[in-house]
Amino acid sequence: MNHNWLIEVIKRLVLMLGICFGIGLLTGQTLSILLIGCGAYLVWTLKNVFQLISWLEMSSSSSELIEPPSGHGLWGEMFDSMYRLMRKQERAHNRLKAVINRFQQSTTALKDAVVLTNDQGQIEWWNPAAEHILGFRNPDDVGQQVTNLIRHPRFARYFESESYQEPLMLPSPVSAEKRLLYSITIYGPNNRLLVVRDSTRVFQLEQMTKDFVANVSHELRTPLTVISGYVETLSDSLVLMPEPPPPMLPKALGQMQNQSDRMANIIEDLLILSKLETADSLQDLTPIPVAELLDEIAKDARSFSGERNHTIDVSCKSGTQILGNEKELRSAISNLVFNAVKYTPDGGFIKLKWVVELNTGYLSIKDNGIGIEPQHIPRLTERFYRIDKSRHASTGGSGLGLAIVKHVLLRHDATLMVKSRPGRGSSFTCHFPQSRLVKEAA
Ligand code: ADP
Repeated sequence: MNHNWLIEVIKRLVLMLGICFGIGLLTGQTLSILLIGCGAYLVWTLKNVFQLISWLEMSSSSSELIEPPSGHGLWGEMFDSMYRLMRKQERAHNRLKAVINRFQQSTTALKDAVVLTNDQGQIEWWNPAAEHILGFRNPDDVGQQVTNLIRHPRFARYFESESYQEPLMLPSPVSAEKRLLYSITIYGPNNRLLVVRDSTRVFQLEQMTKDFVANVSHELRTPLTVISGYVETLSDSLVLMPEPPPPMLPKALGQMQNQSDRMANIIEDLLILSKLETADSLQDLTPIPVAELLDEIAKDARSFSGERNHTIDVSCKSGTQILGNEKELRSAISNLVFNAVKYTPDGGFIKLKWVVELNTGYLSIKDNGIGIEPQHIPRLTERFYRIDKSRHASTGGSGLGLAIVKHVLLRHDATLMVKSRPGRGSSFTCHFPQSRLVKEAA
């Protein structure tokens, strides 16, 4: 619209009044003509206002754009400008509609369930697959808390944790045989996008692999015991032989014994791991006196160190106990302490420490051993992860110790933090949440 509209209006008014005044002078009826002029102007203005209102009413009730009424002067310009604005809005609206349509078509075609929740965790929208996978019902479930519909304590914890780096696998709320993989992304002001995938097939394959490993390990145990027994008998009978044995025989038997011991270790650890993986969540929790446990493990570690002469210290700054499974925790902590012995040169220093700060229990095993390069730290708890093969072979480790530690801690809602500097030493710290701590009875 013309920016000088005010001048334009004033000009037109002055012109109209001037003409009326002129006619009034000529006819000698100045006042009456002026009044008639003003009245006509008012009627014309009212007519345009009426046209504008009925055009706007028709436009708002119609799905299509309606041509504006024809108008003169300022009103004509105003109708045209409004019409242009409406067309612009309609184009933007159509573009947006097309985007929404495409989005809806693609989410409808998705096999995964997609759910949007608001900042209160209430469900705002879902795609058709969510009805099939999660059993959501339209429209009853709109506005419901998502944790009320996906009723699982681990899902509730995951949803509220706001840390979604790893997806979460759980049984389906619709069918217990199915396994669903949940991943969440935060967008906007604390809104969440939940993507749920049916991972039953992956779960079954993983289960089959676990069963296979457990069965193979179990089956290997007996033949290995027989081989190991014969090797031992043969080694013992060497001294009884009337003739001196061929020089390579004692060495070969020694190596066979070492390797079968190592294999037995691997099998034992594989069986422990598969038990941990398949076991239900921890039942019958008992309060474990940490000081006593650490003292006993330190004693075993001292005899494991033997002539290597490590100094193994225990420092317990809290009487708080851990609520858990003693056998599992003993095995996890022993793994960490025995690793410290294995990877610390003779005469080195190892410290076991238990302290509770700000409602978290910290159990750390610190050594001044060979340390670990930073790039290996994130992968240490993977099964059979090797920093270098020579290190592995010389210590006779199974490569499963830290995987066992990770699983035991997971079952105790605890986490493992590893800090290390090559050549300076390492510290492995288990963080136990408040829910796993109990004050010692007075
Ligand atoms: P392993 O049976 O080989 O000890 P683990 O799973 O217990 O297997 O440990 C994985 C790897 O982590 C080890 O091979 C070793 O290289 C490294 N590691 C574990 N603990 C320590 C430690 N205290 N100091 C240095 N390296 C360590």
